Amino acid sequence: MLKDFLLDRSEKNQLKKALYKQLHRDRRISKAELLERFHVPNTTMTRMLGELAGKGFIRQCGFGQPSGGRPPALYEIVPEAGYVIGVEIARTDVRVKLLDIQFQIVGEDQFILTKQHTSERTIQLIANIIGALVQEHQVHSLLGIGIGAVGPIDREKGVILNPESFPAEGWRNVPIAAILEREFSIPVVLNNGANTGAIAEYYAQSPEEESILYCISGYGIRCGFIQEGQLLNRKEGDVTSYDHIIIEVDGRPCICGNKGCLTTYASFGAMFKSMEEQGIPASIDQLLNSHDPRVRKIMIESAKYYGIGLANMINILHPHTVVLHGKLIYDDQEYYEEVVRSAKEYSYSHNRQLNIRKGSLKEKATSIGAAIQVFDQFFM
Ligand SMILES: [Zn+2]
Repeated sequence: MLKDFLLDRSEKNQLKKALYKQLHRDRRISKAELLERFHVPNTTMTRMLGELAGKGFIRQCGFGQPSGGRPPALYEIVPEAGYVIGVEIARTDVRVKLLDIQFQIVGEDQFILTKQHTSERTIQLIANIIGALVQEHQVHSLLGIGIGAVGPIDREKGVILNPESFPAEGWRNVPIAAILEREFSIPVVLNNGANTGAIAEYYAQSPEEESILYCISGYGIRCGFIQEGQLLNRKEGDVTSYDHIIIEVDGRPCICGNKGCLTTYASFGAMFKSMEEQGIPASIDQLLNSHDPRVRKIMIESAKYYGIGLANMINILHPHTVVLHGKLIYDDQEYYEEVVRSAKEYSYSHNRQLNIRKGSLKEKATSIGAAIQVFDQFFM
């Protein structure tokens, strides 16, 4: 079973695991190229490839370009040799995805969070969906479960601490990783959803030297930063503090007790408040579909402030790429362009050339990244 191979942390298994990881990363690679990377005798490489192929973890997949002589045989991993689950727990809904080991989605399901969705009920529903996906797709080797959740969380203990503004009560100190680990007897990894989103976008982009600042905006503002494959915020998943970057001296009062926090200008809540002050009914639909010039003005002003918040983070972190994720980012081009314009205008001049783009994986990012994270931890 692939799970046993990946969980085997013994010294003698390390080289084979490194070989498997290389095949996973390169997709299709010849023995000659592998020999260049691993510096082992030809016979050792042949034996290791034979063992991995014999167990059904890798296979030959055609031939590459010959450099004189016979064309070299290429190897790849077998995507169906193992599967991982990626779960996103957001404020409004939960998404569960089944991915093969090459991170292609093979099945998924989701549900909306209501006032009735206590942590117990939500975790039971997640477990039910995982069970159904495993059965439907006849999965024999489930490797692990990754969760990207609204913070704050305790990443090391796998506990959701006390997320703000969940619809239901009962979300304090929820040991979600331990509960699912007991249920399925596989590793469960919890991280903040902004971090797992960053992982997914980083993996999708693939040049390894790139760093990505991944920013989610909506009811709250959350960011994940990944550089050379390493996340900032590794131990604690508390990224809610980005909401409280001060962007206006003596500005609007915030629930945290401070004044002028980013959230009081750039969150949905801030926009809703401004709409209500002008007697406009406030909702997501009103925001997205309104042609009312007053609503447009509120949105564009909010975009400007969000850009200022981004500029501050850009000046501190120096990312190569900023990836923006959120309903308004995807669905309102004018809003998105104002965020980018403002972020560049308020950045230090050296940072203005950086690449700012929308998320390429959109709403799939958090759960895909959560699944990738489970796979990665087998190699740590
Ligand atoms: Zn605040």
